[in-house]
Amino acid sequence: MLATGDVLTGLGVGLEAVSAEVFRVKPPQPLPIPANHAGDEEAQGAKLREAVDAVGQSLQELAVKAGETSAEIFEALEMILQDESLFEAALGEIADGFEAGTAFVNAIETFAEMLSGDPTFEERLADIRDLGRRVAAHVHGIALGLDLPEEGRYVIVGEDFAPADTAQFTKAVVGVITIHGGPTSHTAIICRSKSIPAVVSCTAAKDLLDGTEVLVDPVGDRVVVGGTDSDITKAITFVAKNPEPIIPVRANIGSLEDAVAAATTAAEGVGLFRTELLYLSSTTRPSKEKQVESYTEILKAAPEGPIVVRTIDAGSDKPVPFLQMPHEENPALGVRGYRLVQDHEDFIVDQLESLEAARVASGREVWVMAPMVAVATEAEAFAKLAREAGQYKVGIMVETPSIVYDLRHLGGVVDFISVGTNDLSQYLFASDRMNPNLGAMLNPWQPALIQALAQIAAESKKNGIYSGVCGEAGSDPAFAAVLAGMGFDSVSASRSQVGAVRTALSSMSQADAEAVYQAVIGARSADEAKSIALAKLAQFAS
Ligand code: PEP
Ligand code: MG
Repeated sequence: MLATGDVLTGLGVGLEAVSAEVFRVKPPQPLPIPANHAGDEEAQGAKLREAVDAVGQSLQELAVKAGETSAEIFEALEMILQDESLFEAALGEIADGFEAGTAFVNAIETFAEMLSGDPTFEERLADIRDLGRRVAAHVHGIALGLDLPEEGRYVIVGEDFAPADTAQFTKAVVGVITIHGGPTSHTAIICRSKSIPAVVSCTAAKDLLDGTEVLVDPVGDRVVVGGTDSDITKAITFVAKNPEPIIPVRANIGSLEDAVAAATTAAEGVGLFRTELLYLSSTTRPSKEKQVESYTEILKAAPEGPIVVRTIDAGSDKPVPFLQMPHEENPALGVRGYRLVQDHEDFIVDQLESLEAARVASGREVWVMAPMVAVATEAEAFAKLAREAGQYKVGIMVETPSIVYDLRHLGGVVDFISVGTNDLSQYLFASDRMNPNLGAMLNPWQPALIQALAQIAAESKKNGIYSGVCGEAGSDPAFAAVLAGMGFDSVSASRSQVGAVRTALSSMSQADAEAVYQAVIGARSADEAKSIALAKLAQFAS
């Protein structure tokens, strides 16, 4: 049972919030179970033709009703529906004995299976399957309408909405919540185009009841039960006031393509080059020549500035086929990252030596770091290997809680550290980063993570170690301001976010960033920390 003040998290669509009462869309009426016909093959074919034409006609009507963005979708769906080979395939199913509705659903399913596995079509498959459902419903005289209210103001809640559903949205639909569906689902696209505030992928919305007042708060990626205007998360548009950000903003890359794209941004070098991404499908170990060639190309293409290269971070969420790894019950806590040195030191050394050759060939400034270092002795061992192999700055990633307490031993051992907030959150909160039910624990605004980060920045400074952050947290412009305020020397963001992070960090002074950090340290929850920071940051926005 949900109560006033409960927060349901999901993925927000849009910048405006809205509050209204919930209208639950009834699950569609079930279609009859697959069945055979009674030997009237020809009549079934005629029935199917009539149903396909009628659904086609209704798609055209929906296209007119839905307006520009959806019209294109309906036109595409109508083309699929009227495709002759699809109809032929359905006739083949009728010839095999299936009645018209079942025959068309089967034919559509075969078509959908051909497209599945292709990420471009994955989210469209539901729309295509919906065509089969509509034709079958017509064959059996079943109504599939949503029965939405025409008057009043409602936030509609449903599993997800197909194009034919969204076209039925009436003017009474002022907000949308879906239990499934991702940020590129049809519902998200349509809501964005129609400026209907939405939160998609909101699992807890399954417990929302008709008539409950809710606030749809897309900027906050949440729905607040009984929420009011004071709960609305405001979007901030930063305005750069200084030519340079208060700390350098670098880019994260994993391929030559990324390096080229990052060079078109204002990134100051690369803060994380994930080398394992080059080898996720390699069944044979890349030779040193091959490595030198690809690293050199990437170093040459990367944006101007230092390039921080991470040695292979294989294991757990990033298996690398050519490195034989033992089967582990719990790979996230197993032999991964720098721990591969146990059985594969030769590959790490190969990598370091190849990087040195690429550094010389490209003339670029290269820093190297090891992932998943847990204790000071590992950092010492890696620094020794790296300094023997080449002339670069040497560092480690800070992504296990234990190494935070060992930073005091690392002055003079490593030149820099870079915080991997993705893994640091995973290990700090004992929350598998791949588990969709634990997203809230992995929120960078969690006060415990903020405390840990502040400690890392302070310890690094105290020990004369340069410190950066390269986990996803650094891609959030507001959070990047907090990181700068704590004293980190640089952040590295995913390339699409470099511009936004740079603008944010160019909109304030170091003292301003420190004030934002000071304001959030007392927060008791992620939501509280984020809203305090956003309120403070609003001063630097337009
Ligand atoms: C991290 O853990 O934050 C990080 C940057 O590394 P990856 O996401 O590649 O594990
Ligand atoms: Mg990591």
